[in-house]
Amino acid sequence: MKNKKDMFDVDLTKLTHSFQDACADKDFKDFVYGLNIKEEILIKYTSSLQDAFLECNNCKNCKGLSTCKNKITGYKYTPVYEGNIISFTYDECSKEKKRRENNSYKDNLGLYELPKELKEACFKDLYKDDKARVPIIKYFKEFIDNYKKEDKPKGIYLNGSFGSGKTYLIAALFNEMAKKGEKSILVYYPKLLRNLKASFGIDYDEQYELVERAPLLLLDDIGAENCSNWSRDEVLGPILQYRMENHLPTFFTSNLTLSELEKSLSITSSGVDKVKARRIIERIKQLTVQLELVSKNRRD
Ligand code: ADP
Ligand code: MG
Repeated sequence: MKNKKDMFDVDLTKLTHSFQDACADKDFKDFVYGLNIKEEILIKYTSSLQDAFLECNNCKNCKGLSTCKNKITGYKYTPVYEGNIISFTYDECSKEKKRRENNSYKDNLGLYELPKELKEACFKDLYKDDKARVPIIKYFKEFIDNYKKEDKPKGIYLNGSFGSGKTYLIAALFNEMAKKGEKSILVYYPKLLRNLKASFGIDYDEQYELVERAPLLLLDDIGAENCSNWSRDEVLGPILQYRMENHLPTFFTSNLTLSELEKSLSITSSGVDKVKARRIIERIKQLTVQLELVSKNRRD
């Protein structure tokens, strides 16, 4: 049986051989010797150094992030030498850094149960062929101009046909506001109610306050939920009250006009309560200007 020293020698010979084999590639050899690390250390890391060499070459021939060949797009596997040991890290490249910095505003926009594509909604992509959008876009400009004033501008109650682009439009506005550093949240309202109901005793307060206190809020698809006394009087009413008192711009999208919404809010499984429904509508009227978007269905 071989003793420990013999085994060590065999290992060392193997390592040296595979290192020398790899160095048959002159470019690899230049790469590793260029690191200014002693050969007796380099030989222990041949395979990782080959990976780093490959990624370094990919970067030399870089044609942009979309065709990045590295294992992690925008990052380069890089050797770091310290205390006689080589470790390997993933270094962010300059293109990825720029991309990340240009996108960091997107963190200002929160999505609650809505598709992440809405983060890409922007003014320059809004359909220009549709006259129905003109008053809405005009109001957006006014909103942006006046947002910093002491009296914050009102939000919008945007009603209209299914798939006309209501949610997309408000997302585009919130994204523009995000670029200016303003935080917002787009909330799919029917799902918020279901989640709140399920979160009693768990994280009800956190979820509720996230919505109630958002600097800019969209309650998306209001009127599509099954209204109950609880959702109207314990959730929607107090949220709107808080936002009115604190001058927090609030937006709504709905397939219903305000008077249709009033009707739908007055009927719950517990009976009919026109007064409470009216009170909600009054708050929405105080918080918003009412605009309409009836247009073709863009979902086809
Ligand atoms: P609504 O909220 O009125 O039901 P959406 O905002 O969901 O309608 O829009 C319907 C579909 O059309 C979505 O898939 C959305 O991404 C797309 N859409 C709407 N407006 C635009 C736009 N300006 N550019 C690209 N896609 C859009
Ligand atoms: Mg919608």
